[in-house]
Amino acid sequence: MSLDDIKISQAIIESYNKKLRSALDVDVAIVGAGPAGMVCAYYLVRAGLKVVIFERKLSVGGGMWGGGIMFNEIVVQEKVKKILEEFGVTLRHYESDYYLADSIESVSSICAKTVQAGAKIFNLLSAEDVMVRRGRICGLVINWSAVEIANLHVDPVTMKAKFVVDATGHAAEVVRIAERKSGLKLKTKSGRIMGERSMWAEAGEETIVRNSKEVCSGLYVCGMCANAVFGAPRMGPIFGGMLLSGKKVAQELIKRLRKG
Ligand SMILES: Cc1cc2nc3c(=O)[nH]c(=O)nc-3n(C[C@H](O)[C@H](O)[C@H](O)COP(=O)(O)OP(=O)(O)OC[C@H]3O[C@@H](n4cnc5c(N)ncnc54)[C@H](O)[C@@H]3O)c2cc1C
Repeated sequence: MSLDDIKISQAIIESYNKKLRSALDVDVAIVGAGPAGMVCAYYLVRAGLKVVIFERKLSVGGGMWGGGIMFNEIVVQEKVKKILEEFGVTLRHYESDYYLADSIESVSSICAKTVQAGAKIFNLLSAEDVMVRRGRICGLVINWSAVEIANLHVDPVTMKAKFVVDATGHAAEVVRIAERKSGLKLKTKSGRIMGERSMWAEAGEETIVRNSKEVCSGLYVCGMCANAVFGAPRMGPIFGGMLLSGKKVAQELIKRLRKG
């Protein structure tokens, strides 16, 4: 059988078009396919919700690939064991409360399970603005990352979501945009982004779960972004908090979306 180059092009264009059109109106739109964003998406889709993730880079996984100082091992604590086991990640006991996993296996397993569960991940697409109506964040403005990188004058498009989750890590990009442009007051002590504090694993891991919540109407934060917004420490190369944080936000959103 001969292969027709045009058929290959048609297949890609038709299928992607369909996928992107379906992403224009969803239950939850997550920005950032790091560990927190993907875990959040996984639990949401498992609950039957329609979820998309927009990821700026070619690859998913955010900062998880590099473990600590580019040593591709991650450390998690006992209470996170169950989550990683659910994703099929092999865990090795180190000592007492500490477990180790291969960072490459962790990212690829989390990603595979999340996509297979039904989440749509769009790589190479960046969130560059938010959609705000009647004092509530209700969607995103997205554009090709290549447009942003090349600084081209190309207009973005808008998509609608019942809730938006900022999982962009240290940069807290969506909250920063919302703070600057929407005029909405954030639910932090100062009403503004508090900024992340110096590295302290124990405090950071504890506060990240507490800080994973709604930061202004319609907009949630999870992962490192939560501590950056609420003024808590970074935690360095321990990844348990990221996973717990993603799961917590998913559980809260499932409750809210079921009620509504
Ligand atoms: C490049 C990089 C370097 C890091 N270096 C360190 C370090 O030296 N020390 C340390 O303690 N922690 C570091 N971290 C963070 C650390 O890895 C975190 O503890 C953990 O990865 C955070 O997980 P997360 O899911 O919250 O976010 P991340 O793993 O940071 O993932 C966030 C994702 O969001 C994407 N993103 C950001 N903005 C947008 C946007 N507008 N639109 C679409 N996608 C977007 C990013 O490309 C990224 O994939 C780094 C993270 C990254 C991405």
